[in-house]
Amino acid sequence: MNNSLLTFKQKVRISRLISNIVGGVLRGQGAHILMYHSIGEVVDDDRNGIYSIDEADFYSQMCKLIEMDNIDVVKLDNGIANPNEVIITFDDGFRDTYEVAAPILSSLEFPFTVFVSPGLIESNDKRYLDKQSLLKLSRIDGCNIGAHGYSHCRLTECSDKKLQNELEDSKTWLEDLLSIPVNMMSYPHGAVDQRVRDAAQSAGYEIATSSQPGVNSDKSDCLWLNRTDIWSIDDLKTFSQKVDGVWDWMRWIV
Ligand SMILES: [Zn+2]
Repeated sequence: MNNSLLTFKQKVRISRLISNIVGGVLRGQGAHILMYHSIGEVVDDDRNGIYSIDEADFYSQMCKLIEMDNIDVVKLDNGIANPNEVIITFDDGFRDTYEVAAPILSSLEFPFTVFVSPGLIESNDKRYLDKQSLLKLSRIDGCNIGAHGYSHCRLTECSDKKLQNELEDSKTWLEDLLSIPVNMMSYPHGAVDQRVRDAAQSAGYEIATSSQPGVNSDKSDCLWLNRTDIWSIDDLKTFSQKVDGVWDWMRWIV
């Protein structure tokens, strides 16, 4: 699967085949935290063009969650309690999280968490939320805001001092703007190791999510939770398979 001679499309085709044939047998037992980025906007460093989800597809996916009667869409800030839980998260702080995703989620009464990098909010890049829209987003019923590092850099590559600043400054910046405690974060680019995890704990975070696939349970390290990546190329069958754990086998190869 890691053979660089294979194109991304070929890898996806093989992955679908594996999921269809043995995915059910290799399914993990636990809660799935879904990872989204943008609903329509271009995402930086998106080599394979998979992180910007079409609005209609996103709506269909959320409706699919309602149809699936064996799952429960819950908030992340309560931690992981039951294996049938599904948690919806967004990284970065795209404007469309507020303008497109939030109205859909609110109409379905689904809670969700948005991990925001203050550096992207301050960048004046129109793809991202500005301070006012971030404030409005944070006040939507069911929405929780977490941090995502300050400058969106890879925390594993930071010096100890820079790491501490990234973790603490993003937390303080969000708490000052939103007047709420910020105890959750996701690791930018999924870059986490034991040093970064421990620094996040020292900075006062209680829950942190990675980008590693797999399930979570009440025994999981709350500062190193797995997430299930949802791609723009996922059809509804693949989406429901991912929520159902049929793609959990990917944790062995990523
Ligand atoms: Zn990010």
